[in-house]
Amino acid sequence: MNKENLKAKIQAMPKIELHVHLKGATRPETILKLAKKNNISLPAKNLAEMKEWFKFKNFNHFLDVYMQTAMCFMEPEDIELAAKEFLTEQARQNIVYTELTYTANHLTMSFEDQLAALNSAKSWGESHLGVSMNYVIDIPRSMTFGDHQERSQRFAKQAVSGMGKGVVALGLAGDENKYTVEFFSPAFDIAKEAGLPIVPHAGEAAGPQSMLDAIQYCDPPRIGHGVRCVEDKNLMALLKERQIHLEISPTSNICLGIFDTMDNHSFPEISAAGIPFSINSDDPPYFNTTLTDELIMAAERLDWSAEDTEQYMLNTAEATLLPATEKSALIAKIKTSWTT
Ligand SMILES: [Zn+2]
Repeated sequence: MNKENLKAKIQAMPKIELHVHLKGATRPETILKLAKKNNISLPAKNLAEMKEWFKFKNFNHFLDVYMQTAMCFMEPEDIELAAKEFLTEQARQNIVYTELTYTANHLTMSFEDQLAALNSAKSWGESHLGVSMNYVIDIPRSMTFGDHQERSQRFAKQAVSGMGKGVVALGLAGDENKYTVEFFSPAFDIAKEAGLPIVPHAGEAAGPQSMLDAIQYCDPPRIGHGVRCVEDKNLMALLKERQIHLEISPTSNICLGIFDTMDNHSFPEISAAGIPFSINSDDPPYFNTTLTDELIMAAERLDWSAEDTEQYMLNTAEATLLPATEKSALIAKIKTSWTT
């Protein structure tokens, strides 16, 4: 398969995404609409200003934008709207299954109502678009109010309460340098006791130690980003030995200054080291990207053949947190798309 044909195949093939945030995937137009509806004052008043505001100066600027836009969601119908738009975009790219990260930090809505809104969009996506999703409920490390310890445990309990209703993991996101993984270990114990996997962000803004902490306190099947593992050869050996999957979002890492250019990104080294990984979009409109664009870029950079691309997608299906029967069905769907 030549380069152009492989590009067309990547565009058309059924895809899976493991690392993308609902609030970070919401279109700027929709954020503005929600801000107006809910009387929220944002620093940006129109699309042009949103574009300027989304030019990230550093990781904390990004977190500030993320937190302020997330606060535009006030009612369950806002979540349902964003989730339906999200699934429409996933369907456009033929992303048949997503594990969507959702931050439930809203004082105006109960967790049950937020989950019901997501599940209403999910049912609609399954019946109207033929795509599905489940959820990673994350603990935001940088909470803007309340007692961090108490709130983090509440997030964990909420995530556990959603098991069997779409929640497949507890996550951890936000400022890796301010709050370490260890700080949240009582919350992780709640998830562990319930048998809910933990998939924390680590090795993005902070270095290898954040990943070692994540492995120690979360026993994660996957780590969000993890791209700074290349700074520690022993850590790389450990990731390979335990086959801990890294959810890599290349363009996000460039936009937030984790690497200065794509040529200096670590994903080729991670791939060569035999560490399992997937390619993701993280917060696509923030970074002006799509999963399809990320995959085409990665396939070219890693010089993938058609077989490599198929194997990549099968590995990604294997790394989902779906129950066994659903996982087998997803794998079968991907295999079929490569034989027809
Ligand atoms: Zn993320």
